[in-house]
Amino acid sequence: MTQRPYNFSAGPAAMPEAVLAQAAAEMLDWHGCGMGVMEMSHRGKEFISIYEQAEADLRELLAVPPEFKILFMQGGGLAENAIVPLNLSRGGTVDFVVSGSWSQKSAKEAQRYATANIAASGQASGFTALPAPASWQLSAGAQYLHLCSNETIHGIEFHELPDLKALGCDAPLVIDFSSHVLSRPVDWSRVGLAFGGAQKNVGPAGVTLVIVREDLLGHALPACPSAFDYQTVADNQSMFNTPPTYAIYMAGLTFQWLKQQGGVAAMERCNIAKAELLYGYLDRSAFYVNKVDPAARSRMNVPFFLRDESRNQAFLDGAKARGLLQLKGHKSVGGMRASIYNAMPIEGVQALVDYLKDFEKEQA
Ligand code: PMP
Repeated sequence: MTQRPYNFSAGPAAMPEAVLAQAAAEMLDWHGCGMGVMEMSHRGKEFISIYEQAEADLRELLAVPPEFKILFMQGGGLAENAIVPLNLSRGGTVDFVVSGSWSQKSAKEAQRYATANIAASGQASGFTALPAPASWQLSAGAQYLHLCSNETIHGIEFHELPDLKALGCDAPLVIDFSSHVLSRPVDWSRVGLAFGGAQKNVGPAGVTLVIVREDLLGHALPACPSAFDYQTVADNQSMFNTPPTYAIYMAGLTFQWLKQQGGVAAMERCNIAKAELLYGYLDRSAFYVNKVDPAARSRMNVPFFLRDESRNQAFLDGAKARGLLQLKGHKSVGGMRASIYNAMPIEGVQALVDYLKDFEKEQA
């Protein structure tokens, strides 16, 4: 096969080529059973085996402790912005750290079901820095604290999750880890619930991962739809309603690929190297700039600007011609953004850096 272009989309994003090839090979007939995965009953032994393997692999990869349930849901990150307060808020107060667009949306949606308190916001910095945990205004008696551990649009990442107990807060921590799940380990001792859409680091859009500590189940508001009640979903092994079977299968293939790569620890090393390569070049260049506080820079989403923005279109056209796709920044931030998830090999980041250099030279 000729080499595919490098795809820097923020999501839905590039998937490992080996995963796509395996899915293609199994499309018409999965393991000799005469059916493709899309055509199987979710209650049949074939799909149950796919599901159980995917769940076990995810548990192993992320070292999820036994007291946490893994749920495969639908609705994406934005639906979880409602589903979490429906399940965990008890109609009371919930705290939010607003560090970018995604946590801002989460706080807004939660207001429909609970009293949402903005404990801290990075808005004054234009979401280029994380508010220090010691400055957070936590509510007494909050049901949980929500943060987005990697802000996909602003390119801001928590490199350490806050220890809420050390801040004098007993509430569980809820994290939206949609855009960096499986790129690094998770410190479960600091987390009550983590959710994430699949379409960046896991697989195709359509399945949402929810990993929730058991003691947080069973408190849904009466208005919570049964299909979104974590207790109901957990009691039915994510099959209260028909789960997104094909997306779960693809996620499962990605989990196996990750294990072959050496698991999350190996991925993290590679992601650090990729991020250093790209940020290192941007920082040395007078032609490009990344405006995020170095302590909070995302390893997954790297927004950057040409200092002369009149050259943006020429930059994007030249990138495309070199097989470097989807580098345009989010419309709310502008500029460029390179998303370099697990499926992006370091060779892809090197190809981007080579292009950055060449474009700069060409324009001089
Ligand atoms: N949270 C984060 C961090 C995201 O990056 C996204 C999607 N880009 C969402 C939530 C929303 O996901 P969805 O569109 O699947 O609801």
